[in-house]
Amino acid sequence: MNLDSAKKKQNYRPLKRFGQHWLKSEKVLDKIIIAAEIGRSDRILEIGAGTGILTSRLLEVSDAVISVEIDRHLCQKLLNKFGDSENFLLLQGDFLKLNITELLQHPPFQHPNKIVANIPYNITGLILAKIFGTIERPTATNYESVVLLIQKEVGDRLVAKPGTKAYSGLSVRMQYLAHCELVCDVPAKAFYPPPKVDSVVVKLYPKIIDNPANNPQLLGTLIKLGFANRRKMLRNNLKSLISVEELTTILEKLAINPQSRAENLSVNDWINFSNNFPSV
Ligand code: SAH
Repeated sequence: MNLDSAKKKQNYRPLKRFGQHWLKSEKVLDKIIIAAEIGRSDRILEIGAGTGILTSRLLEVSDAVISVEIDRHLCQKLLNKFGDSENFLLLQGDFLKLNITELLQHPPFQHPNKIVANIPYNITGLILAKIFGTIERPTATNYESVVLLIQKEVGDRLVAKPGTKAYSGLSVRMQYLAHCELVCDVPAKAFYPPPKVDSVVVKLYPKIIDNPANNPQLLGTLIKLGFANRRKMLRNNLKSLISVEELTTILEKLAINPQSRAENLSVNDWINFSNNFPSV
């Protein structure tokens, strides 16, 4: 099928502002479904159902699929396709604004426990913050796992280990809130139209934070300043907050090399560091 007939068949031009790229690879769909480990009784929340290619796979394996879609035209299409399925519920609206818990009170759709979605890349950060909260304000979430298809550059940062190039403030902030795993790479050509960037599937497990930061605001600030200039040592990036001598004492106490850069500290190091930092 050439592009023109693909467009005609969909009778719909994907909209840039809603980050619309339709996944067309059956192989990638298989991998997403396997990674999500769905049982019939799981309640699955899908963000951005689009034309429903992932939705139809989810409906095959779960007794309750809730799909959120912002685009009215697509919602009509989704209803035409799946409206008769008892295990399908469509929420038309902006995921960022919907109160999911309030809207989903009734069986079989109450309390979705897994998220599986190919999300719009332009609002990835906001979607993650809505699901997991932030260091400063973690969300008490009911989700057991979250499988997302996202931009590779962001995914690499979510799963990055300390000391690697991709390990950044985002890695520390998200890994504070969730265990993050890479599922697979997804090339741009797996979509129509292909996005400008490659993608990855990641699986995130919300964490019970057993060693929380005493002062989450401070931890947030330290991460932000610490990573501000990656090539500089922590003690130089944090000069505005603390003297080199004082900082060296704290790091030595924690058995962290005083010449470390931000990227050398594990998430636990960051928490301990912030808990031993004088209040600013
Ligand atoms: N899951 C589909 C579509 C992915 S494209 C597929 O795999 O093919 C992302 C989808 O998210 C689009 O359908 C877009 O309309 C929708 N979307 C964009 N912003 C949204 C928002 N704030 N809330 C809900 N859906 C949104």
